[in-house]
Amino acid sequence: MTAADTGPSRDGQADGQAGRSVLITGGNRGIGLAIAKSFLANGDRVAVTYRSESNVPDGILAVQADVTDEASVDAAFTVVEAAHGPVEVLVANAGITKDTLLLRMSESDFTSVIDTNLTGAFRVIKRASRGMIRLRRGRIVLISSVTGLYGAPGQINYSSSKAGLIGMARSLTRELGSRGITANVVAPGFINTQMTAQLPAETQKNYLATIPAGRFAEPEEVAKVVRWIASDEAAYISGAVIPVDGGLGMGH
Ligand code: NDP
Repeated sequence: MTAADTGPSRDGQADGQAGRSVLITGGNRGIGLAIAKSFLANGDRVAVTYRSESNVPDGILAVQADVTDEASVDAAFTVVEAAHGPVEVLVANAGITKDTLLLRMSESDFTSVIDTNLTGAFRVIKRASRGMIRLRRGRIVLISSVTGLYGAPGQINYSSSKAGLIGMARSLTRELGSRGITANVVAPGFINTQMTAQLPAETQKNYLATIPAGRFAEPEEVAKVVRWIASDEAAYISGAVIPVDGGLGMGH
């Protein structure tokens, strides 16, 4: 394999090989934790951020951070960099919902979701990009949602934030692509986590009826795709939106 096949190398290792410094925001549960375990199994040095509870398995470094607070993000990166070196793979996963119909949605319901899901991603990506630009290598993965493309009643705040991540990844690609950095979006459909467990049974039933795969997915199914898009095999993919939704958002 040539350097052109593998991208820039570090200490003789090809980009994408095991042993990278990986950081996942909101990695203490749900999809983020599944992603963290997947990179750990790959042999990477894995850190996650959490807000309240850090109960992650041995081998994963848990650092407290609130993505709505720039100083807190900076402090978390400083800890991760000291332990694992500059972040080479960043997964912007932390997210919240505050679902309600438009006429009942307060401005703070809207702005708080944007602040966590969209501006929060901007904060962590900006902080991670320093090290990636210096290394001339990096993988940024933004966890969006099928509703960012497809829309959903009651989710004007959430779907706006998730659609914004697509523009972010594409602008990042144009800005940082020549530095060996890729930025891609993974757009899950309905995944079994605490976030979806809180939806009313009727809503869950309605979603199920519209999913061609006829089932919801497990967080591990998203994790495998994230790990692959951050791998050496995906070095020439950037600005892409990869659905993991059982066909729900097809054509959007
Ligand atoms: P969970 O609700 O299970 O987990 C959300 C994670 O985000 C938690 O770790 C939470 O930390 C963290 N988080 C929330 N707000 C902040 C904040 N301000 N600062 C730092 N961390 C924060 O969600 P899922 O695992 O289901 O979702 C993960 C991502 O996937 C989200 O971006 C979500 O929008 C997206 N997604 C999920 C789908 C699903 O069906 N589940 C479908 C499509 C997309 P803490 O535990 O401390 O609150």
